[in-house]
Amino acid sequence: MTALTRLVEEPAGPRGPQCTVGAILDLLDPPAAKKVCEVLDTAAISATQIADALTGSGHPVRAPAVARHRRRGGSNGCRCPR
Ligand SMILES: [Zn+2]
Repeated sequence: MTALTRLVEEPAGPRGPQCTVGAILDLLDPPAAKKVCEVLDTAAISATQIADALTGSGHPVRAPAVARHRRRGGSNGCRCPR
């Protein structure tokens, strides 16, 4: 079982920095995740407002992580799929 133990202790290889917003979206129910995606695509809502709302819902995240997720796919964005 050594190999299995190793898998547990060393999960996945390096795939760039983990995106906090992407991790939250993975945790949320599909309808909630869809709502968050809609808000993320609404330019009139600031990254700070979104970070505050998610943090208040029990999903701590900071505004720069939200802004980075909004630039996903770009050279200065996160690695979440668009
Ligand atoms: Zn992301």
